[in-house]
Amino acid sequence: MPQLPVCNGVLAATPAQTEGPYYKANTPERASLLEPGMAGTKLIVTGYVLTTDCKPVAGVWLDFWQTDDKGAYDNSGYRMRGHQFTDETGRYYLETVVPGGYPGRTPHIHVKVRAPNGPVLTTQIYLPGEPRNNTDSIFKPELVMSDVRDTADGKTATFNFVLMSRN
Ligand code: FE
Repeated sequence: MPQLPVCNGVLAATPAQTEGPYYKANTPERASLLEPGMAGTKLIVTGYVLTTDCKPVAGVWLDFWQTDDKGAYDNSGYRMRGHQFTDETGRYYLETVVPGGYPGRTPHIHVKVRAPNGPVLTTQIYLPGEPRNNTDSIFKPELVMSDVRDTADGKTATFNFVLMSRN
């Protein structure tokens, strides 16, 4: 499990990114997008949802969607789509596969994040070291996962989302 980040002062809010054309509402609630026989490299992404004053937020809705390993979205069903909520410590856990890129886009995972009664943050997260990161016009280094490690059966990575604090 990821460590709660050390906070010295105010965190930068996670930047928003375009939703793109492939979002579908009413996804199944699930932390794992893996299905039997699914191709690709297994990827576990974990992290916290924090406020800019570095407080973890419980019960945050996270709705992930992405391509399969070959860069294809499922636009008829809910393959590679699912929502979940942060636990009481503000953590989430996503089990998926490394997404493929597609024309014009480096590999990315789309996500919508909403704290209870808060606004929706729509953004995308990226993998470090992908050759197409440099040529994707909307790629942002602030949205790259950290602590990417190879494991016996895939990869693990961390990404902490930071939401604007509300008083
Ligand atoms: Fe996309």
